Amino acid sequence: MSAAAERPWLALYHEGTPAGIVPEHDTMLGAFRATAGRRTDEVAIRYFDAALSFRDLDERSDALAAALVARGFEPGDRLAVYLQNDPALAVAYLAAWKAGGAAVAVNPMNRHAELAYLLEDSGAAALLCLEELYEDVAAQVLSEHDLGVRTVITCSPLEDQSRDDPRVLGARATRRPEGTLDLRSLLAEHAGGAPTVPAPGRDDVAVLTYTSGTTGWPKGAMNTQANLAFNAQTYRDWVDLGTDDVVLGVAPLFHITGMVGHLCVALLTGCPLVLTHRFEPQVVLDAIREHRPTFTVGAITVFIALGGAEGSTREDWSSLRAVYSGGAPIAPAVTDRFEEQTGLYIHNIYGLTETTSPSHAVPLGRRAPVDPASGALSVGVPVFDTVVRILAPDGSEAPVGETGEIATSGPGVVPGYWRRPDATAESLPGGELRTGDVGFMDAEGWFYLVDRLKDMINAAGYKVWPREVEDVLYGHPDVREVAVVGVPDEYRGESVKAFVALRPGARLEADELVAWARERMAAYKYPRSVEFLEELPKTTTGKILRRSLRDTTR
Ligand code: AMP
Repeated sequence: MSAAAERPWLALYHEGTPAGIVPEHDTMLGAFRATAGRRTDEVAIRYFDAALSFRDLDERSDALAAALVARGFEPGDRLAVYLQNDPALAVAYLAAWKAGGAAVAVNPMNRHAELAYLLEDSGAAALLCLEELYEDVAAQVLSEHDLGVRTVITCSPLEDQSRDDPRVLGARATRRPEGTLDLRSLLAEHAGGAPTVPAPGRDDVAVLTYTSGTTGWPKGAMNTQANLAFNAQTYRDWVDLGTDDVVLGVAPLFHITGMVGHLCVALLTGCPLVLTHRFEPQVVLDAIREHRPTFTVGAITVFIALGGAEGSTREDWSSLRAVYSGGAPIAPAVTDRFEEQTGLYIHNIYGLTETTSPSHAVPLGRRAPVDPASGALSVGVPVFDTVVRILAPDGSEAPVGETGEIATSGPGVVPGYWRRPDATAESLPGGELRTGDVGFMDAEGWFYLVDRLKDMINAAGYKVWPREVEDVLYGHPDVREVAVVGVPDEYRGESVKAFVALRPGARLEADELVAWARERMAAYKYPRSVEFLEELPKTTTGKILRRSLRDTTR
């Protein structure tokens, strides 16, 4: 029998945790509806001084769905959601589903070209965005591109908040921009309404979550209703969450970790989710003191920032009983330091957008071992009903202890990429995800990540694809050749560096190029350093040797 088929990891599961789970709901919308029926007047979202009940979420999403349908939104259509961690995001996702469609998760850091690409690729029929993001980015994108967006709705992050709350970082008390519909007025107009379209089925796309996968341009991973419902239950049952728990939202909700590990799990469990618009350590610390969360999951930099936040004491952390970190490698010394600061052990958790968040996690209460050869902290063991194989370069299954590509199948794995049959066939042959991550399983069933086949740069959990940054840099008139790589960075794990050869006679300073790039892409993508070379190293066929440049930086 193969190593994976024996599933040795099951013996490592937390005591009392079953090997598999019986899905309680086929769809995430069904899960929410059941909770809203059971926990109607309990708090669903805490957002500064505001508290929204499950009834509020249900009624607002009914009204928004009715508003969308009244404006021509049809089953299967997409609603792009361009918000921070605001309650309106939950309302929007539920509304898209109630209207028979899907949401498109848009990173609020995205700039013009990135937003235009997502709206075009997803074919979104409607857009809900923050007023300030409309003014700064979306208005221009919508006027300059021929897109299918018919309905544009804007909202303020201060909807449920006093208009001058300084904790809602960067929020401007603006007014509904010209040419857009105001969310609050729309909800009032359609209050009591609800669309009469059929409920989505288990295989319907719930969210298009953009990722570059192992190569190329961002693609919409099709996280289905069943994917979300299953992995929300995975989180709930892995850490045994109940209605007395409180989920702290420190990961961005547009990313799969926040979407499933904060929003969906709280909607399924029927417990409050604490949101803070953006991540600012002091604001989050205040929220921890006020709302006493019990569970959270986020990138390791979140915990580095929070553990060292000014004025933080051990008492602040005493309500938390399950802390998980995923999205980027974790140095064992960092978990040790956080434990000294707070008394809390950080459990590693690993997954991809395409696995709808976790495929592996450290069982609650266990400590992840460290691989002595690579120093890698184990990412845990495969979660419920997930089967993971390590593939040798010839595609055969590698024996225990041998390194190869991690290949994952299970109920969290997406059926494919939106309108990309080729990429789907390449990355998901037979429904098994080729992750592009390289690792191994030890004899007990612990998994370790030691390398990557893909060119992705992981800057504090934010994924950057060199091609995207290179394309932008090639747009600068002085740039002749460019290669972008990830270089080690103490805080972010990796940061973006560009090697550049200029056109003959061109004079360009590194900070000018950095500033130029900064205007044109999300803040985590632009190069933090630039090195000018006469020529970039190439193969005999002229292909730039990105990997060898990367190796010069290690
Ligand atoms: P994303 O699709 O943004 O969730 O990114 C998925 C990628 O993040 C994986 O393919 C890994 O390379 C990386 N990743 C996720 N979780 C971890 C973890 N716990 N440790 C190391 N890398 C991780």
